[in-house]
Amino acid sequence: MIITRFPPSPTGFLHVGGARTALFNWLYARRMQGRFILRIEDTDTERSTQASVDAILEALEWLGIDWDEGPYFQSERVEIHKAHIQKLLDSGHAYYCNCSQEAVEAMRKAGMERDGKAKYDGTCREKGLSKTPGAVVRFKVPLHGATVVEDVVKGNIVFQNSDIEDFVIQRSDGTPIYNLAVVVDDITMNINTIIRGDDHVSNTPKQILLYRALGAAVPLFGHVPMVLGKDRARLSKRHGAMSVTAYREMGYLPDALINYLVRLGWSHGDQEFFTRDELIEKFSLENIGRSAGVFDPEKLQALNADHIQATPPEKLHQPLLPFLTAKGFKAEPGDFLTGVIHTLNKRSKTLVEMADAAAFYYTENIVYDEKAAKHLHPPALEALKQLIARFQEIDTFSEPALEAAFTAVMETTGLKMGKIAQPVRVALTGGTVSPGIFEIIAVLGKEATLARLRAAQQFIETQ
Ligand code: GLU
Repeated sequence: MIITRFPPSPTGFLHVGGARTALFNWLYARRMQGRFILRIEDTDTERSTQASVDAILEALEWLGIDWDEGPYFQSERVEIHKAHIQKLLDSGHAYYCNCSQEAVEAMRKAGMERDGKAKYDGTCREKGLSKTPGAVVRFKVPLHGATVVEDVVKGNIVFQNSDIEDFVIQRSDGTPIYNLAVVVDDITMNINTIIRGDDHVSNTPKQILLYRALGAAVPLFGHVPMVLGKDRARLSKRHGAMSVTAYREMGYLPDALINYLVRLGWSHGDQEFFTRDELIEKFSLENIGRSAGVFDPEKLQALNADHIQATPPEKLHQPLLPFLTAKGFKAEPGDFLTGVIHTLNKRSKTLVEMADAAAFYYTENIVYDEKAAKHLHPPALEALKQLIARFQEIDTFSEPALEAAFTAVMETTGLKMGKIAQPVRVALTGGTVSPGIFEIIAVLGKEATLARLRAAQQFIETQ
């Protein structure tokens, strides 16, 4: 059974890079019918905040990344970490060290000058010291040989053990060090597959040594290249919004963001558009890319447009409604909203754009744009009057019935379709650009359509 995890440090919002890591682990667990565990790595008490925990959980929920276990909090597991440190001491894989910080600094400096290796020199390694106030616990790194990270993404990465110092696993105040806590948590949570950013590669040999010393199986590792901006610098604020929830506020669909983030580091032939189910079905570790993904906000927006179009209108009710409500529209789920979305989903790149474009549907008294108002001029009056008369006679506002009414008015007035359609468009929407007028009429229905046409008639008559 595949067991993966996402262990964010709650020192800020969930950013797009972190979300991608979470996605890879989540998708792989789902694909393999395994388990996905959420663990909050909050041992850095100075930088960790509850607000960040909340923000991360909210972002994961919005993305639809669900977890089978957790959230566990690393800070609540200190006793477990300490028990494992004791195990390492008992088995001779770790030792107390009472060298002062200054002494360690001096050793590092000397090592650097001697052979370019800034390492603790092992002074206390064989002393068999017992616990004294101020002592740290160090891990006994093998003096010879190499530790190989067999990485599913990068291939084998070889680290010489002689390059690794006897690193601290417990501080002098008794708190466990990060690498130890991560390994103990991963072992005790039975994690067997770890996909993470390649900024963690340098930790991995130390972690592998800890696994072995604790007699635990080493998990499968995959280190994913960082996400870059278009200028190939590491992604930062100047490349666009970094926070996942900022994309929700900008009117992105979670499925679009997921699709985009996964494609930033993984491929399946040259397919760009994936539904959530397709991603779960097709995701594989083998196809994670070795080169860094470049975050391109325009591509993300284009993909969002594709997802908006591909989503059944009813499924857009819930994500779209907050944007409509924020604009003061009395929108609610139902057939009317489905109709509105149906007319706009091929023309909106974001839900913000869609809500803007939907304004005329929710406005009772249409205000005509200055430019648009020019179409409401005397030559259009007769056509409007005739249309009103004919529309009054139609019971079901079907497209063929509406078209027949327009054709008849074209014949009796001698006006071309455009000369009639444009004033109607302005009457219905207040502007000159909109979805097709038959579509709009079908959504507005008879009463609202007639009311708007009559208002336009009056507007012309009172000019
Ligand atoms: N807490 C670490 C981070 O947020 C993750 C460590 C790991 O994946 O092993 O970068």
